Amino acid sequence: AREESRFRGSLARAEEPAAGSHRAVGRPAVATDTFVNTPDTDPSIAASRAWARAIQDGAATADAGLATLRAARVEDPAAVTAEVAAAKTGAASWQARTPEERAAVLHAAGRTLEARRTDLVTVMMAEAGKTIDQSDPEVSEAVDFAHYYAVRSLDLHRFEGAVPRPRDVTVVTPPWNFPVAIPAGSTLAALAAGSAVVLKPAEQAARCGALLAEILWEAGVPREALRLVDIDAAGIDAGLGDALLGDPRVDQVILTGAYETGELFHRVRPGLRLVAETSGKNAVIVTPSADLDLAARDVAQSAFGHAGQKCSAASLAILVGSVATSRRFHAQLEDAVRSLAVGAADDPTTQMGPIIEPAQGKLLRALTTLEPGERWLVEPSRLDDEGRTWTPGVRTGVRPGSWFHLTECFGPVLGIMTAATLDEAIEIQNAVDYGLTAGIHTLDGAEIAHWLTQVEAGNAYVNRGITGAIVQRQPFGGWKRSVVGPTAKAGGPSYLVGLTGWERRDVEA
Ligand code: GLU
Repeated sequence: AREESRFRGSLARAEEPAAGSHRAVGRPAVATDTFVNTPDTDPSIAASRAWARAIQDGAATADAGLATLRAARVEDPAAVTAEVAAAKTGAASWQARTPEERAAVLHAAGRTLEARRTDLVTVMMAEAGKTIDQSDPEVSEAVDFAHYYAVRSLDLHRFEGAVPRPRDVTVVTPPWNFPVAIPAGSTLAALAAGSAVVLKPAEQAARCGALLAEILWEAGVPREALRLVDIDAAGIDAGLGDALLGDPRVDQVILTGAYETGELFHRVRPGLRLVAETSGKNAVIVTPSADLDLAARDVAQSAFGHAGQKCSAASLAILVGSVATSRRFHAQLEDAVRSLAVGAADDPTTQMGPIIEPAQGKLLRALTTLEPGERWLVEPSRLDDEGRTWTPGVRTGVRPGSWFHLTECFGPVLGIMTAATLDEAIEIQNAVDYGLTAGIHTLDGAEIAHWLTQVEAGNAYVNRGITGAIVQRQPFGGWKRSVVGPTAKAGGPSYLVGLTGWERRDVEA
């Protein structure tokens, strides 16, 4: 794992990336390792930690400088239109550069992101409630995206019988839960494909988006090729979102968010070219052949990392046969969950920070109400008046077809289900509308092989957690309702192809 972990942020030094574990588009990317995102000895982590400690000791404040960081909010549709127009002009000069020149800018972006790691981590902690162990690997992922797409962009010019015709303007609408890695990945991919970008950060993470844009400009991404529009909820209500999506100069949109948002975008603009990674309801199967200690640890980490606020998070564990009644497994899981330190994101000892806004709707129901036949293995409790800080919850006895089995809740609640056989477990796992991530813990090769032929998820993980996909090694994307538009996966070899227009070139015989 130590050898592997150097991969993070190190693509710049690779001539050509090493062979990844990805499969063809739409097939699961399979990982059988227990990869540790970023080595603890990384000096930049030490710097982030030192900053966090200074915040904790009162020597610095988490939001020092944050107030000035947010870009000017856009308040009228004409301003949105002006940004799209600027990007359209910027596309021409961006495309006038050679592919090699553009790739060099992307590599520079990777280096600058690395150099600004501490700033990015601090803003993520302060604005988006991400703990260091969650936000630091996110910077690594952004760095990897930059170098990976730089390398891949040159491949676009090596196709036979077709030449790339970049799409001029790409709108990027990222989520708040990965407020750096996802906007960085989407923006860098579009730029790599020759497009100019209008980036609209999630409102809850607008400062992360503004800092990201600043870093990319500093690295040499031309301002006219990357436009930042800061639209808040009031602006969306006032029709600014429609102005952005509806502008005919916008060629495509990269969205990461809820499935319903993808549908909404299509209603705003029928026929919109949309590349979207959407919701998930992800389960990990644990069979009697598993290493139960490892399984309990991985389930807990996948369920409660970033307080479960990941499309990729484990929301269900499906225990097969004797595991369903295994006292050892339940005790391990309960210990792992109860020992999670819950608190402020900028406290370096915190393992689970607050959720992005007070629990409401589906998440509040999941945290407070059981369905028939269920009971709490670990009952969640609210630690603040506001309803943002919760201890993690584990509900057992979740029944097939029940509300919790089928509903994405996006927070710190895990449901335990049971199955008599592996096939029954797979049926439960596949019964949901979504197909983003899935996991199995078993040391039985035949079970692994069988599961891999049956599982309906874009990212299928064996004997590791189901979050934290690695650029190139586990291209990330979904099946079923976890995807809207082309199924090419982010961080994989086909992603840029899907963002590019093509023209036939007749090959002389
Ligand atoms: N790529 C992230 C992971 O593998 C998930 C992204 C998301 O939640 O949208 O954990």
